[in-house]
Amino acid sequence: MLISDKMDQAIRSYIEENRDAAVDFYRTLVNLEGRHGEKDCLLKTAEFLRSSFEEAGLRSELLYAGETNAPVVSAVLNENADGKAILFTGHYDTVFAAGSRGSEPFSVDEEGKAHGPGVCDMKGGITIAFFTVKALQALGFDQCPVRLFFVGDEEVNHQGGCAAELIRQESEKILVAFNMEHGLESGEVCIGRPGCYEYKLVIHGVSSHPGHAYDAGRNAIQEMSHKVIALQNCTPKEKDRLYSVSVNTIRGGSAVNCIADYCEAMIDVRVRNFAALEECERKMQEACSQTYIEGTRTELFCTDAMMPFETTPQVESAYASLKRISDAVGGPVTGAVFAGGACDASYFAREGVKILCMCGIRGNYNHNINEYGVISSIYEWMRLYIYAAYNYREFV
Ligand SMILES: [Zn+2]
Repeated sequence: MLISDKMDQAIRSYIEENRDAAVDFYRTLVNLEGRHGEKDCLLKTAEFLRSSFEEAGLRSELLYAGETNAPVVSAVLNENADGKAILFTGHYDTVFAAGSRGSEPFSVDEEGKAHGPGVCDMKGGITIAFFTVKALQALGFDQCPVRLFFVGDEEVNHQGGCAAELIRQESEKILVAFNMEHGLESGEVCIGRPGCYEYKLVIHGVSSHPGHAYDAGRNAIQEMSHKVIALQNCTPKEKDRLYSVSVNTIRGGSAVNCIADYCEAMIDVRVRNFAALEECERKMQEACSQTYIEGTRTELFCTDAMMPFETTPQVESAYASLKRISDAVGGPVTGAVFAGGACDASYFAREGVKILCMCGIRGNYNHNINEYGVISSIYEWMRLYIYAAYNYREFV
């Protein structure tokens, strides 16, 4: 492993000299704000990132990601170096409406915690990524390409846009990737997340008068009742189950003196991996294929999908390599976790990329007004990623 006192001195000096510059960049980035739907705001943020990357000497461009979607900001250092790249990825959109917390919402408290929309999720991570790349450039690192790739519509799962396809194209160039989502205070990185799917079940019955034409009716609510139980029973009993099915809303009928000819239910499905999704879907279709009330008709379809971030062998290998480097340099990685929520690491992992998630600033309470990021962790993670770059062969 490439580690020396001289190298460590050079890395520490660079970080020391650039502490304030990193916080200045972080402040500007947070104060630019922007969530999906606020395209002008997000375009300003994208342009700030692109021009910052370009001023630092990287080749940087904005990639079209859809009519209503903010562009992807892409940049590369050492474009002509041989081999595959180290990638720092993430998103620059937040979940907060611009201006909802005053004109300059970024602040730092006396404990060294940054506050403001997106400090933790995930503009602290973008700051770490950019200053890591700047440090590598200043230190003369030229062994392999280093790429930056930040989307502007992650919080809405890229709906209506083509960022997922851009991720697929980016994946082909990558040796190892770090998704700079907020990091845990306890120092673990994320090696998997469940997928979250939404299904709609619709039952069509036959309306009739419950008094003088009872037998002519086909009650959609009655049919639905059987199917709700059958769907709930699709969930495996054991606690460490690979998937779950939960019918969580239901709506049906039109009047109390009218046999219900319509009923619909929304179903939440969580899966650990793609194989579990396949099995779960098969069981759900099977549960819905039986007709209990002759003359009713059933439809089941998926209405929303956030695929799982699967703990592939490539993800496990990326974790083992980063942990080895972190241990060797006294770095911040304490372990690996399977986390809740969804993230873009799922798209990269599906393409076979060695990717880890929650590699960004340590903090808490994302998607919450109390969100914070611990500024000192910017420097700890920068040091680790600089070492990771110099030891990129560990990831091959
Ligand atoms: Zn995020």
